[in-house]
Amino acid sequence: MTDNPINTDVDFGKDGVQHGHLKLPHSSEQAAWGAVMTPLTVVRNGNGPTALLTGANHGDEYEGPIALLNLAATLQQQNITGRVIIVPMMNHPAFLAGRRTSPLDGGNMNRLFPGDPTGSPTQKLADYFQRTLLPMADLVVDIHAGGKTLDFVPFVCAHVLADKEQQARCVAAMQAFNAPYHLMIKELDAVGMYDTAAEALGKTFVTTELGGGGSASATTAAIAKRGVANLLMHAGILAGTPELNPSRRLEMTDPRGFITSAHRGLLELCVDLGAAVRTGEVIAQVYDTDRSGPEPQVYRAAIDGVLAGRHFPGLIRPGDTLAVVAVPAD
Ligand code: ZN
Repeated sequence: MTDNPINTDVDFGKDGVQHGHLKLPHSSEQAAWGAVMTPLTVVRNGNGPTALLTGANHGDEYEGPIALLNLAATLQQQNITGRVIIVPMMNHPAFLAGRRTSPLDGGNMNRLFPGDPTGSPTQKLADYFQRTLLPMADLVVDIHAGGKTLDFVPFVCAHVLADKEQQARCVAAMQAFNAPYHLMIKELDAVGMYDTAAEALGKTFVTTELGGGGSASATTAAIAKRGVANLLMHAGILAGTPELNPSRRLEMTDPRGFITSAHRGLLELCVDLGAAVRTGEVIAQVYDTDRSGPEPQVYRAAIDGVLAGRHFPGLIRPGDTLAVVAVPAD
């Protein structure tokens, strides 16, 4: 296969703290011989496990960049055993634009794996992760939140996998990360996801949805920071014992839990995130925005559970995920 055009000024095999970039040549109106510069930090101290930590896979999700820029600024060689590769803003062009997807090519990083070294800029970045960064890693952590269009109860999650030994490793890592909710998930469509790429390579993989709405709170940023430190301790890379707080176990494996809007209009959520819901209970109403008088369209829970996710903006369109009901597994 064609070599990836990205090069970097860090040496992944060298001990110490290195701050550098992944440099992807990109000729544009603004810079004829320009480059997409994705910041990364590598901290290595001898042989040991490698953790690959990423944020802003989607550019409008902020807990990951906050926790990982903080870690990159503070992590010291003498405090670790092994290696930590930190890419706080995986889709940097999207992050700079405050968008989910890249303004360069519309690329949604988390739907483009395994990537393509001859493709668009986002495809080339995905290929670099697929063939260069992921193979170096033992533990892979990708910190997401809901972005501008979704909001979630803060959860860390692992996927239901065919390989139960691998699933057990991922669940143990999820428990070490420790968020208010621990969730087992089956994706509606796992094709093209970074998650799927990491798991197919046999890696221990955890991801999160730590809130949303296109910003971070003090609470969700703290969950991300503590979670990353906990995981590095769990992996034996950082000294210390993970700080574990009480959490609730949820499962998002029933497709009936995903409620999609069939209407355009003004959204009224009738229950808040984290609330218990019963089958048949009204979760939301959607009002016609072109006339007063009509009754709103009513959306009901199809299963018993907990409201774990919701559409964030006040206006909703057909096809938008309106709400997600997860099932308690306690
Ligand atoms: Zn995301």
